[in-house]
Amino acid sequence: RNAIEVVKVSKIFGSGEGQVAALDTVSVSIRENEFFTLLGPSGCGKTTLLRLIAGFDFPTAGEILLYGQDIAPLPPFKRPVNTVFQSYALFPHMTVADNIGFGLEMLGKPKAEIEARVDAMLKLVKMEALSSRRTSQISGGQQQRVALARALAPQPKVLLLDEPLSALDYKLRKEMQIELKRLQHETGITFIFVTHDQEEALTMSDRIAVMSSGKILQVGSPWDIYDKPAERFVADFIGETNFLTAAISGTGNGKARATLKSGTTIEATVAEGFQPKDNATVVVRPEHAKLTKDEGDLSGMVENIVYFGTDTHIHVQLDSGEAFTVRQQNTRSAGCGFERGDKVGILIGNDAAQVLRD
Ligand code: ADP
Ligand code: MG
Repeated sequence: RNAIEVVKVSKIFGSGEGQVAALDTVSVSIRENEFFTLLGPSGCGKTTLLRLIAGFDFPTAGEILLYGQDIAPLPPFKRPVNTVFQSYALFPHMTVADNIGFGLEMLGKPKAEIEARVDAMLKLVKMEALSSRRTSQISGGQQQRVALARALAPQPKVLLLDEPLSALDYKLRKEMQIELKRLQHETGITFIFVTHDQEEALTMSDRIAVMSSGKILQVGSPWDIYDKPAERFVADFIGETNFLTAAISGTGNGKARATLKSGTTIEATVAEGFQPKDNATVVVRPEHAKLTKDEGDLSGMVENIVYFGTDTHIHVQLDSGEAFTVRQQNTRSAGCGFERGDKVGILIGNDAAQVLRD
């Protein structure tokens, strides 16, 4: 069942020369109970889409359905939707408990019900001990929890989260990512989460929509998006990728033969619905290639070695002039086995290469 359906929605700001299409005929369906993420670079239209769903702004064209009903006639406060803003927007002079209960007060709920809800929310976000502190006297991470509790208190059907973790430092952000997943799971509320951080999107989401310049380029599971990117922008934006120029021959059955600049021909998978022409870009993830001191599908010289703890990234200047990175898992008490200046071959694994739309 779909919680939200966005149907051919466009949003144009300004007029004439200064016109900006913040959203350009966007369609996407978000399922009930789903942790759904809008991922894309700054300015691609993520916040605009959330604001249209929340009712803070209206589409120029298209419609938004909530459980099949057009929500256009509903003002924001009548939508079963709530938003967590990046800035938290808490009331600093009010206590944690009063902040959490604020929305319920506004809705005119009975006192006993508000108290019970606030207690449940304090427990949910593990803030019982600080319930009577002012929110100006708690840490950033704690403020984040209060903002979540406040948004969840009126039991919305859909929770919109606009880059809610971006103000937190790395460790706390990692903790809150797990916390948010838990909250989504425990409450069963549909989460629409916005981030520009690809790693955050991959680790948290049931499904991801990748956005660029007001359009949704691909929707899929983290695995789909990472391993079967539909086009070059997606492959480039999500994770690290090597791009190689290739001459294409013998396409069919979702495969193509790609002859690389090195002269080697490899088999590559072809993105769905794409018919590659004579020349195309082949992409290979750094962890799907292997370095060798012997001959490989590609050859070159090690230019730089970057150690990351869990793995090592080895940057190779190919004889073709192209750059290529190989990612190698580290093992205990052994170096990566290569040094700067080494002549190396690169083996491209089976199914590692893909031909993508530019
Ligand atoms: P994101 O949240 O992905 O960073 P936004 O949705 O905030 O992107 O913005 C998308 C585009 O729309 C940007 O080019 C932005 O400058 C423009 N935009 C957003 N809101 C307004 C507005 N109120 N008036 C004019 N342009 C806007
Ligand atoms: Mg934004």
